[in-house]
Amino acid sequence: GRHMQTFLVTGGAGFIGANFVHFLKAHNPASRIVLLDALTYAGNRASIADLDDDDGFVFIKGDIGDYDLVCGLLSDYAVDAVVHFAAESHVDRSIHNPDAFIQTNVVGTHILLRAAKKVWLDTGSGRPHRFHHISTDEVFGSLGPSEPAFHEGTPYAPNSPYSASKAASDHFVRAYHHTYGLDVTISNCSNNYGPYQFPEKLIPLFLINALHGKPLPVYGDGANIRDWLHVEDHCRAIHKILMQGTSGAVYAVGGNCELTNLALIDQLCAEIDAAFVTHPSLAARFPDAPPVKGKPTQSLKRFVEDRLGHDRRYAIDARKIKRELGFDPAYDFTSGLKATINWYLEHESWWRALLDGRYNQWIDKQYIS
Ligand code: NAD
Repeated sequence: GRHMQTFLVTGGAGFIGANFVHFLKAHNPASRIVLLDALTYAGNRASIADLDDDDGFVFIKGDIGDYDLVCGLLSDYAVDAVVHFAAESHVDRSIHNPDAFIQTNVVGTHILLRAAKKVWLDTGSGRPHRFHHISTDEVFGSLGPSEPAFHEGTPYAPNSPYSASKAASDHFVRAYHHTYGLDVTISNCSNNYGPYQFPEKLIPLFLINALHGKPLPVYGDGANIRDWLHVEDHCRAIHKILMQGTSGAVYAVGGNCELTNLALIDQLCAEIDAAFVTHPSLAARFPDAPPVKGKPTQSLKRFVEDRLGHDRRYAIDARKIKRELGFDPAYDFTSGLKATINWYLEHESWWRALLDGRYNQWIDKQYIS
């Protein structure tokens, strides 16, 4: 492995980034972290507030598209590696307003690359560096029921404005390696779940809706298939790639866990029912939840009009990262889901603070059945 000590983590106040900085501090306490985040609706200072006491942690509120700011951070803090999470990340929002996705995901990523080239290659000391770009399996498009899973060589075929913007950013990262010799790695990962996920995404949205007795809106026929990976496993994969991955390489990361949305929702509902049995005190906290009224959580399920351009199936062939870096997911989905539900039940004030007027307006607009 490498001896990188100072990391610029972009988007570290978001879901995966916040998990990653906690992972990094737990596994490499001596590391220095400079966290750059614009604190959009998806960024949450509370997710990283516990790190404020750490001398090796600096939070900078700012935009990855601010070239002078990024150059200053890379040189002032003598950054060894950029770990790039910052993005607009929600497919449904990209359908309504693609502009922000192009600005942050494409233009913003390019500005980060240009700053890294300037500081590390053009004016730098020539010290080792690495730029790790976090991307998604959605860049590969949609699979038929019996098609082989996505792998590192799968041709790009993005179908949503979100995945198109991520695809473009992947290509710029690749180009900076081949054209300028920047040391880069890219990971394309499947759906993540776990702590600190903003409650517009399926699992926290459905859990919080269910706790309040609100409908659970299932797109289309609910037969769309996603592969699910616990965020802590994703963070471990990123850390391995960062430290041991080959420069210029791409790694597909997945959980070997293909589920239809309906299967996932059924399991989530069953776990919520079970939680009300195991923890009788939940009834007083969430009096509108179906189990309190003697009904199964399933009864809140409603089929709604399908998402535009909804990809049918994603699946990941993760043999390369297993073979080259020895990575295997540690969580099985059932234990990961239980742990996630417990985390949300134990961190009510974390998610409660996010449910403001703006959030409710957006969620209501999305899911009129
Ligand atoms: P998120 O939406 O929870 O967090 C994104 C973070 O980026 C937020 O803190 C936000 O404030 C910040 N940000 C947005 N625009 C910015 C800008 N211009 N400058 C600085 N900061 C900005 O997203 P996430 O789910 O944590 O995803 C992180 C990365 O992982 C993204 O690149 C996403 O494409 C990728 N990814 C996500 C998943 C998933 O299942 N969530 C799967 C594969 C890949």
